Amino acid sequence: MFEKVLIANRGEIALRILRACREIGVATVAVHSTADAEAMHVRLADESVCIGPPPAAESYLNIPRLMAACEITGADAVHPGYGFLSENARFAEILETHDITFIGPTSEHIRIMGDKIEAKATAKRLGIPVVPGSDGAVTSEKQAAAVAKEMGYPVLIKAAAGGGGRGMKVAHRPEDLDIALKTARAEAKAAFGDDSVYIEKYLAKPRHIEVQVFGDGKGNAIHLGERDCSLQRRHQKVWEEAPSPGLNVEERKRIGAVVADAMRKLKYRGAGTVEFLYEDGQFFFIEMNTRLQVEHPVTEMITGLDLVIEQIRIAAGASLSLKQEDVTFAGHAIECRINAEHPRTFRPSPGMITYWHPPGGLGVRVDSGAYQGYRIPPNYDSLIGKLIVHGKNRNEALMRLRRCLSEFVIDGIDTTIPLFKDLVKESDIANGAYDIHWLENYLKASEQKP
Ligand code: ADP
Repeated sequence: MFEKVLIANRGEIALRILRACREIGVATVAVHSTADAEAMHVRLADESVCIGPPPAAESYLNIPRLMAACEITGADAVHPGYGFLSENARFAEILETHDITFIGPTSEHIRIMGDKIEAKATAKRLGIPVVPGSDGAVTSEKQAAAVAKEMGYPVLIKAAAGGGGRGMKVAHRPEDLDIALKTARAEAKAAFGDDSVYIEKYLAKPRHIEVQVFGDGKGNAIHLGERDCSLQRRHQKVWEEAPSPGLNVEERKRIGAVVADAMRKLKYRGAGTVEFLYEDGQFFFIEMNTRLQVEHPVTEMITGLDLVIEQIRIAAGASLSLKQEDVTFAGHAIECRINAEHPRTFRPSPGMITYWHPPGGLGVRVDSGAYQGYRIPPNYDSLIGKLIVHGKNRNEALMRLRRCLSEFVIDGIDTTIPLFKDLVKESDIANGAYDIHWLENYLKASEQKP
């Protein structure tokens, strides 16, 4: 086992990783920018190192500074969390060459899955069903038009290097195609420095279903069921739950088995998430994330497993601690992302939290680094915490969620809590009858109300 893990992240996820390390007796190193000197992950870590000024490029994304922090503290492993350098193959490679373990998959697997065109081709080869679309990148308008015509409109132009919903444009008719291509390319170039794009059939009313997997790099792999992340705004997840209210037992088993089998063939190591769109009983692969996800707690709540401890064990060379038949699922879990944002305009709302009262009780989990008197810096993602509830069934989880939302008080800043209070009143939410467009349509409709 490792002696000291450096956590190359901030906020709630840094704290989440720290807690796992502490439980298994591994020392922790927090890194932080000058904006985060007072952050909870810094206060609770065994050691901390300031790695630079507030801009992420000069701190959390700065590989030389992170390497220096490893050297100074003698950390023998790095957990990257999510975002920042978690899917940076180069970082994983540099760590390996310095004999420091990257808690994640091989740099080769990160690289393959980081290029969405290559990821899709790999998924197909491994027997995973993919969204119909162009075979690889589209290089000309003519080629794009031909592919789109064959598939039928609407189509979606997507960036090969895409992430966070950027570089994605819909063309509803042939006359939209040219502009969609141009804007997707421009957006992709600006965001990722790479303007390669590909085309997919645009699905009208799918659910976003993702399967959590674990491999040990030795050919063993299991799945931990699915999460439903269909409630999205601008392709960003807002609410996640497990199991999905849209799948039946047979579908759940089938997709889990397909994914676990593919990961065995790939000899995948560590935690990963294979994302699908699901429509009319069919699954279509869209991408794979080679890291821990924001929404991993809902899986933990229904399986009783600690995904971060499992990640650390596997990175330290252990085999999977479970076989597929040992994994059991109990009850239902829902996560709400608490962002420091206006609940309707979604304008970021950094600043001082003047009052903080989180909910508690049976089946309630709040993952957050926030506290009363904490000043949220304006430099980073607006996620300040996650409220996760667990119940014997979906109905109990929803009732518990309603109760928790009424108990949660955060003063001094705007948060997304009022949005969730409205959502739990909606019958479609109560019935689990929503697809990836539901939230956008709901927001549009409520904007029009006086
Ligand atoms: P990113 O890596 O930018 O998050 P994804 O490929 O994971 O991009 O897609 C993000 C979201 O965009 C999906 O959850 C879904 O809401 C929407 N989306 C992606 N592909 C399609 C498609 N072919 N048809 C309809 N919606 C899509």
